[in-house]
Amino acid sequence: MELPKPIKDFIQVFSKLPGIGPRQTTRLAFWLLHQKKETQHDFYHAFINLFSKTQICPNCFFISEKDSSKQENQLCKICQDSQRDQSVICVVEKETDLISIENTNKYKGLYHVLGGLISEIDESRKEKLTIKQLLTRIKTNKKVKEIILALNPNSEGNLTTYYIEKAIKTINPNIKITKLGRGLPQGGEVEFADAETLVNALEGRK
Ligand SMILES: [Zn+2]
Repeated sequence: MELPKPIKDFIQVFSKLPGIGPRQTTRLAFWLLHQKKETQHDFYHAFINLFSKTQICPNCFFISEKDSSKQENQLCKICQDSQRDQSVICVVEKETDLISIENTNKYKGLYHVLGGLISEIDESRKEKLTIKQLLTRIKTNKKVKEIILALNPNSEGNLTTYYIEKAIKTINPNIKITKLGRGLPQGGEVEFADAETLVNALEGRK
């Protein structure tokens, strides 16, 4: 049957979300419409704020809260923290991996969020990653002594690790490159690894 246009549009947009199809989105639309006005407002504002009050850190590419008094994007709290070890950068695929490592409370260095992994099938994906920016960080910041490649131990993770390792060696062969992936079970993921596994992988990194 023909749904009212606003509902149809909502379904069309929201069914693009990962792991959710048109049937669930239709249910979601009606559920939202039946909520109290305040609840609807909370949803509305949470959504608007997610886009308008966040920014990407120009150094590590992690997402942080936007400082509305500043025009330009500001460094995130981790990059601003002078107590953190400036000599180590832990390279992760995505924000949720960073959060898992950060939640172990064991790692005190800096991060770099790649924004994805290199794909064998899709060559263009490499260009969208922040690998160039990582290399620039290493080149311009003489304090950097070690790079931890904390990528998932699967084919794309291994390919990305190999590519970055080669690129770093070309610009500075003295940088120590270690890998977290080897401490994780094959096929395991950084994001879903429990804290103990992550701490062991961090401490035993090679
Ligand atoms: Zn940052």
